[in-house]
Amino acid sequence: MVLSSFARAKRPATIFAAIAAFAAATAGPLQPANSEETRPVVIAHRGAPAYLPEHTLAGKAMAHAFGADFIEQDVVLTKDGVPIVLHDITLDATTDVASVFPDRAREDGNHYAIDFTLEEIKRLSVMERERNGRPVFEGRYPRGGATTFRIPTLQEELDLIKGLNASTGRTAGIYPEIKSPAFHRAEGQDISRIVLKVLAENGYSNKDDPFFLQSFDWNEVKRIRNELGFEGRLVQLIGENRWGLAPEVDFDHLKTAEGLEEIAGVADGIGPWIGHVLDDRDANGEAEALELAAIAQDLGLAIHAYTFRADRLPEWAASFDILLKAAVETAKLDGLFTDHADVALSFLNGNGE
Ligand code: CA
Repeated sequence: MVLSSFARAKRPATIFAAIAAFAAATAGPLQPANSEETRPVVIAHRGAPAYLPEHTLAGKAMAHAFGADFIEQDVVLTKDGVPIVLHDITLDATTDVASVFPDRAREDGNHYAIDFTLEEIKRLSVMERERNGRPVFEGRYPRGGATTFRIPTLQEELDLIKGLNASTGRTAGIYPEIKSPAFHRAEGQDISRIVLKVLAENGYSNKDDPFFLQSFDWNEVKRIRNELGFEGRLVQLIGENRWGLAPEVDFDHLKTAEGLEEIAGVADGIGPWIGHVLDDRDANGEAEALELAAIAQDLGLAIHAYTFRADRLPEWAASFDILLKAAVETAKLDGLFTDHADVALSFLNGNGE
């Protein structure tokens, strides 16, 4: 039975043990062997958004309690240059900014985090993500009622994780993403330099430290490595050009063998979309591995794909277990970003159905 090796797999006690196991099993530090000693690392995407609003400290505490290997931070800057944990460069989809600051939108109707000081940002309540007045994910944390959720600064979140690492005796790593560096530069802010400084001050600076730094912006990833002298593990996220995530980046090129080779010269891993590594063209209940995964693996790049959601499956996957099984056995992923870290861990640790 194909799942047996994973059912038997023992989960390393700490992320340090996981990293040590990877290093011991392979020539390079980032080529985890698909052996019984290892499983893909589970990255708590925006915390525990299936259960609590994304990027709240409550959600991060829950993700830590689930046993996530890494907890993700999307990082943008305030007007006064403070890194905060927020997915969008705007505040509208996840806070009550429109009612607290009704006259502070830009001409496009959006409230930009970078137009607000930290003191102002702290007056906002964080809520479940909505689009056009509807929850983006039905059945998740309800809106309404008193809310005490606030947007955390990056430092506040690192302190929380540090505290939980100490009190539980289990180290969860961090996985910050530099959001929209070109936008921040146009606004007069160097987000990468600011974030790297905070990370270094908190002990996250080299490849032995339990963290990955990620960005969609390939130009910025190169700058972070080559100009800013970053020595930690770096992940190039891969999107689709039509998504408009980083207008100057050609993701079609980055997905080619040549593009991946360029990435391997700078970064330690890639963060592709599920649809980049598992073929979903045939909705027959099974997916095939796409070439990108094999090329990246040959280049020694770790593959941490996004986003695994039990309540939003690819069309071909009849269940979350089927998707997770394909991630492990077909695409042979080294890690996965998931909204449901608890379910993913249960499956990967062999405690699932
Ligand atoms: Ca992210």
